[in-house]
Parts: sequence; C-alpha cells; structure tokens
Amino acid sequence: MSNFKSNKLTKEVVLRDPVHDYIHIEDQVILDLLTTKEFQRMRRIKQLGPIAYVFPGATHTRFEHNAGVYELTRRICNIFAEKYPTKTPNDGLWDDNNRLLVECAGLLHDIGHGPYSHTFEHLFGTDHEKIGQKIITDPHTEVNQVLRQVAPNFPELVASVIAKTYPNPQVVKLISSQADADRMDYLKRDAYFTGVTYGEFDLSRILQEIRPYSGGICFTMSGMHAAEDYIVSRYQMYQQVYFHRVGRSMEVILQHLLERAKIVYQQGVLQVTPELANFLADNWSLNDYLKLDDGVMETNFSMWTESTDPILADLANRYLFRKPLSSVCIDAETKNLLPKLKDLIKQAGFDPTYYTDTNSAFDEPYDAYKPTGKNANSQIEIMQDDGQLIELSQLSPLVRALNGTLQGDERFFFPKIMMSNSAEPQIFDPLYQQFQRYIKNGTLRYLRKPKK
Ligand code: ZN
Repeated sequence: MSNFKSNKLTKEVVLRDPVHDYIHIEDQVILDLLTTKEFQRMRRIKQLGPIAYVFPGATHTRFEHNAGVYELTRRICNIFAEKYPTKTPNDGLWDDNNRLLVECAGLLHDIGHGPYSHTFEHLFGTDHEKIGQKIITDPHTEVNQVLRQVAPNFPELVASVIAKTYPNPQVVKLISSQADADRMDYLKRDAYFTGVTYGEFDLSRILQEIRPYSGGICFTMSGMHAAEDYIVSRYQMYQQVYFHRVGRSMEVILQHLLERAKIVYQQGVLQVTPELANFLADNWSLNDYLKLDDGVMETNFSMWTESTDPILADLANRYLFRKPLSSVCIDAETKNLLPKLKDLIKQAGFDPTYYTDTNSAFDEPYDAYKPTGKNANSQIEIMQDDGQLIELSQLSPLVRALNGTLQGDERFFFPKIMMSNSAEPQIFDPLYQQFQRYIKNGTLRYLRKPKK
C-alpha cells in the first residue's frame, strides 16, 4: 500500500447538505472530481426514479447521494484514524494511508448510473457497475484524468475498491457491506426526501460505535441497539417506500413504454433524440450513455405523447401524467388465473403485452438483511469485550424476527378501468364485472376452489 499524496486545499470547501449538514471537502482531487462532467451529470438523474410519483418530495439526485457517501466515508476515516490507528502491519487496525482511496471510491461508487437505471438496464443490457468501472478507468473521461494525477495506477485502485477486489477488506466494506456508507446515506436521504420517518436511525451513535478489525468493519457491543435500529428502519423503508405498489406500477409503464418505442423505432416512424436512438438501435457508446439523463428521457416521452402509434402515445401519456396501472396480489396458485384475466383485458381493448405485467417486490434493486442462506451477503457483526465477533441476529431477537421475513409481494398489473363499477356506466360493464369477481380485498382469488 503506497501512501497516496493528496494536495490539501488551503481552505476547505463545504457544501450545505440537509442530511449531513455539511459535506467537507479538504482535498484538491475530491473537488476536481466533483467538477468533472461525468460527476455533474448526476445532478440530472433522480436517485429514486419513478418513486417520485408516489412521494413528490423524492426528487433528490444521484449527485447529492454520492457526495453524501463521500462525507460519511470521510467521517468514518476520521473516527478510525483517531480511535483505531494501526501500529504494526496487519494488526487489524486502520491504516489512514487508505483514506484518499476510500474517499474517492465513496464519491464515485454510483458514477455508472444512468436515468431509470433499473428499467433501462433490463431493456438495453447496460450494466451500471461495468459502466462505472469504465468511466473511472477510461483515459478519455475527465474522472480518469483527475484520478491519474494522484498516481498512474490510482484509477484502477479506485475501481477495484468499488468492484470489491481491493485486498484490504476494511476499505472495501466501508463502501459495500451491510452497514456501509452507501446504505447509511441512502436510507437517511430517501427518508428525508420522501418525508417518511421510518428511515430514521441514530447515525451519530452508529458512527461512534463502528470499528475496524482484520476482516473488515464491525460494531462494538454498546452499538448493538443502534445497529438493530438501523436494520429495523431499513426493513420499514423497503415495505413503505421501495416496494410501494404505485412506484412499481409506474416502473411497469416505463418498461413497456421503452419496449414499444423499440418496436416503433424499428418500423422507422419514431421521433427520437440521437443519443437515445443509438440505444434503440442497439449500437451505443459510452459517450451516448453519458449524454442520457432524466431530462433527455422526458423530452423523448413528451414527443411520443403525439406519436401516430396509439400504444406508444398512450403509454407516454400514462407515464408523464402519472396514470398508474391498478394491481392485485397474486401467488403461485392464483397465477393460473392470469390467462383468463388477460383475455378479459384484451376484450376490453387493451393489448395485454403492454397493459399487463407481473412484478415481484424482490425484483427491486434493494436487498434485505439476510445473514445466512442463499442470498446471504456480508453480516453485521458485534465485537464482544473479549474481541469475539457475534453476528447481529444472534444477539438481537428483533433482528432475528425480521431475518428473511421481508414481506415482498408479487403483483399483477392491469388497466385501472377494469375496476370501474356500475356507478360509472361503461359499455363494457358486464366485462368489467366479470373481471372484478376474481378480485377481493386487493387479492386475486378463484371463484371456486380448484380441484386438487
Ligand atoms: Zn449508492
């Protein structure tokens, strides 16, 4: 590990931030990274995408989240350097020579995200992690040019921290683990901007009780309840915000809108801006990707509201003017009813390919705290007074109760008009009534129990 030289600013620069109060910038390289065009671009990409249709305050961007992760990383480095400085190599304590590297990795950890990343990746095969690595290591980007001024191999090292291949687990886990600076920032920030109180947890206490050890980072015994509180608030954010049925419905519309655009584009009749056209033609470059943002996407959607293709025009209107699809809960058994329902929807005049979908909450890009089992990722560990590490759910009955019980539902989405009732007379009234018989209390049901 070499000691990366950072030119300290003669006077620190501060950004005012509603979540962390101030973001302190002490190094020239951090300030230079903030001003690159790849980083500035994140001002134009909303952190939560379509969730802003449910929580209107949630229009915060990837820019402030990345800056927030940098700030938390910086604060944790301060605490580690003060309380747990390394004395001899491999003593499991913190080597502050890693600071600039981990701060840069925190700042750039989401640099590869584009607009509506989740939906976009699904459709165009883009991968925000790979693109992030490319933005950092490609000599043509401004980010790369700034990082190279620290050392010729510095961009590759920053990329390796984000890719979790850097050999020091403390450095990697500060950015990606169950209690990393990334999650701590987005939970607090998303709670603040959605206006919910579920995401509240005691961050200052967490920062007091976090510590390094040879295998990564953990909490002291007196931080157990703060760690527990953090897991509970995370659970509630998933249930109330990230898995919200209307947010998922808007995501379904967005996905079908882009799918339809692809087809209309192939027919040669789509009005589209050049950078998005290259994605629809499956022939895009990093440069095209960097030109995309929410505004470019919305400009295209706005043009499409007047498309001669009725499905494209309708979906664009539904997306831009927030007309979500309705949805019901389904399970393995009631899934068998979907062909019947789709047929009724078709009779009502909607192409089921574009106006229906199923979506599981677990498809969302957020994960539960699950210390064991198939999808286990890094655990949260509590260090006992004798130095022994115990996984959090072994100590906390509350976390144990939540383990693996994240209530993710699977839903079937369909046009809202199918639920209209006789108080609103419609020509298809009997059709709607037939459809509605299958739905009770927001759940799909059999009219008669199927024979086993
Ligand atoms: Zn992030």
